[in-house]
Amino acid sequence: MTRTPSERARAIVLLSGGLDSTLAISMMLDQGIEVLTLNFASPFCTCSPRKAGGCHLASEVARQLGVEIRVVSKGMDYLRVVERPRFGRGRGLNPCIDCRIFMLRKAAALMEEVGASFVVTGEVLGQRPMSQHRAALELIERESGLAGRLLRPLSAHLLDPTIPEREGVVRRDLFLSIQGRAREVQLALARKRGVDVFGCPSGGCLLTDPIIARRMQDVFGHCPDWDLRDAKMTTFGRHFRLHDHLKVILGRDEGENARLFDLAGPLPRVEFVAEPGPSAILRGVTSDNDLATVGHLLRSFAKKATAPEVELRLRDGDREIAWRAKERATFEEVARWTI
Ligand code: SF4
Repeated sequence: MTRTPSERARAIVLLSGGLDSTLAISMMLDQGIEVLTLNFASPFCTCSPRKAGGCHLASEVARQLGVEIRVVSKGMDYLRVVERPRFGRGRGLNPCIDCRIFMLRKAAALMEEVGASFVVTGEVLGQRPMSQHRAALELIERESGLAGRLLRPLSAHLLDPTIPEREGVVRRDLFLSIQGRAREVQLALARKRGVDVFGCPSGGCLLTDPIIARRMQDVFGHCPDWDLRDAKMTTFGRHFRLHDHLKVILGRDEGENARLFDLAGPLPRVEFVAEPGPSAILRGVTSDNDLATVGHLLRSFAKKATAPEVELRLRDGDREIAWRAKERATFEEVARWTI
């Protein structure tokens, strides 16, 4: 890209809202680079508080540093990557290498539109076992289509010079050689630079959580028509698989009940008619026998429902079925059904 002397070089920086990406932005700004930040919103991000359209912390970092932020939602295309990653998974269901490639490809696709000549991340060599060892960093760069144009300023001295460094668009000598999991250097740097808005230095992703991993595997294995709402519903409530064709999701309180109903849209729902108790979403096919079992399950979580028999109601589009439940599911049944 040819620039007039007065034009500033432009870079896209991936911004999680954490310490490393915040420092990477600040290092670009120091060198007079114009920065556009990209924040990826995912159902599995634990950064909170969140607000519609992205991570609150990332927005706050962008605001404080005075840079533009764009939020990209990780939708169905991302979930397909989670379902079938090419480069394996971490401890949970986290496909970290594929995930980095996914985000960097989105950044690469945006470069021409926004006039950016390179992409920057806060990645640190050796910080994360799966995606930040040397071979993984090289693989990610290659697969994202950013060969030579992916700059990691925090570890730049330990990596091959990138095109913007070789062309003098940025000064390599001002970059760093941070390596490993310790954060002291970054924290000291943040203090020195007066960077005081960073949220989750170690990041947070529910795909590393064994419970969420199990629930997502259940979704992939049992719901041929799974979609984004199934992924969102794995992140809260109680999840039970009664059999291959029926999952039940219970809200744990009024807030979760409301959130579940909101997300579930037209999926069948079950509520207590008169007594207090949890509401449930049914995902799959239900027979009359199943409804009896669902009633027992709901009763076992309705500690305040004291009547000897409770009435429950299923709503499924125009269909409404009411029935009574007397028994509670046993501890062993609940344990067996829990996803
Ligand atoms: S921890 Fe989660 S968000 Fe982070 S790279 Fe891995 S899969 Fe992606």
